Amino acid sequence: MPYLSVNPATGLVEHSFEDHSPEEVDRRLTLAAGAFALWRTTPVVERARALTTVAELLEGEVPVIAEMLSREMGKTFAAAKGEVAKCAMTMRYYAEHGPAMLQEEEISSPATRSGVRYDPIGPVLAVMPWNFPLWQVIRFAAPALMAGNVGVLKHASNVPLSAQFLENLFLRAGLPEGCFVNLFIPGSRVAEVIKDERIAAVTLTGSEAAGRSVASAAGEVLKKCVLELGGSDPFIVGESVDMDNCIPLAVTGRVQNNGQSCIAAKRFIVVESRADEFIEKFSKAMDALVVGDPMNPATVVGPLVSQAQLDEVASQVDDAIAKGATVTAGGHKVEGAGFYYRPTVLTNVTDDMRAGTEEIFGPVAVVHRVKDLDAAIALGNATPWGLGSSIWATDADEQRKGIEDLDAGMVFVNAIVASTPELPFGGIKLSGYGRELSALGMREFTNIKTFYVA
Ligand code: NAP
Repeated sequence: MPYLSVNPATGLVEHSFEDHSPEEVDRRLTLAAGAFALWRTTPVVERARALTTVAELLEGEVPVIAEMLSREMGKTFAAAKGEVAKCAMTMRYYAEHGPAMLQEEEISSPATRSGVRYDPIGPVLAVMPWNFPLWQVIRFAAPALMAGNVGVLKHASNVPLSAQFLENLFLRAGLPEGCFVNLFIPGSRVAEVIKDERIAAVTLTGSEAAGRSVASAAGEVLKKCVLELGGSDPFIVGESVDMDNCIPLAVTGRVQNNGQSCIAAKRFIVVESRADEFIEKFSKAMDALVVGDPMNPATVVGPLVSQAQLDEVASQVDDAIAKGATVTAGGHKVEGAGFYYRPTVLTNVTDDMRAGTEEIFGPVAVVHRVKDLDAAIALGNATPWGLGSSIWATDADEQRKGIEDLDAGMVFVNAIVASTPELPFGGIKLSGYGRELSALGMREFTNIKTFYVA
């Protein structure tokens, strides 16, 4: 099956790549295994220098790379430039702080000398999604490469240009061939790669279905697995909210990346006393958004990634409308070429509607009104997922309640949920397990080796 890079703004195929044959996959895994033998013994400072070179290459080509991301995935040019910059920043972060995170640590015990080391474990397979074609991969690769592992990428089938770009990027930065290899294989061939003895561990960012399949394959061969899956993050609006601060961020939190972010705010849960005001202002702001060509600087919301994604979002909204939900903004596709959907706000959504229980991967907000903050947090937690969450309140008690009581991997206060290399990123429940970023994320794929000298 060819890998097609389709421009979501036009629906036209711009590039096509062929599947890697089993022989080619074998050759690439051998390259990765060979590179690991070299890379693991490369001094940490040299590995850090290589990461810095990757950052420099990214920084030197921001507009070109950003245009590739916009054309392949539909994100706005401004968002794409931000994504490239964030990748470079993260490379620099691990280049600077990684060596200290990998330092041997002494721990006192009955031994004369004892402690832990953080040794690399080998080639790590990264199965990645299309929504942040560069960032998702760099977020894995920066700490993994810094730790002395090598990366084997199975990117989403609809972003082959980004996959190829990444493989070349690491080569151009001077990392030994095989330190970062790309595999053009479908999801159905991932299990066989996980089971290959040259692969040490696997990380997946993607859907629940893919998570189950990857975790099963990893479980069969007892290999370490990290899963970053979906979510339906609650955005809790408390009595003490600063509404003027909150509304623009509520909009950004929902429509960033054209609504296709795992950590987007998806369920807006507002206490009764502030609900009318929130719904009115939020709906007005969502209605005013410019939807269109991602390369146009005026555009805030570009197209969805594919016709299938557009149809899925439209059917979730149509189902809600048919079952009695109220539309206070948008609620329909944009006619014409490309995969555009109007930013939408739904109220009166109930659990018998798909929009009431499913993750919506598009610019569609569901707003619930509830009695008080306790009810808001209870509804926020009433979900099978637990990735991000946010609470919007100026009162310290309301903030503290959100931080303590929300069941999620991440709680943000008066800020939209975001990833940053200093802090661990990940979820609980059906949003997956394990962490990325920070020292904790780096150590997921190390052998935390205890040493004990009598
Ligand atoms: P997806 O269909 O699961 O695809 C993600 C990756 O998994 C792709 O590389 C895909 O390959 C591969 N894959 C699919 N089925 C597989 C299988 N059975 N076995 C092994 N690999 C398989 O997800 P998506 O539609 O691209 O992304 C949307 C989902 O990802 C949403 O639920 C979103 O919330 C979640 N997500 C989570 C995070 C996070 O950090 N937690 C970040 C971004 C997205 P093919 O493309 O070849 O099918």
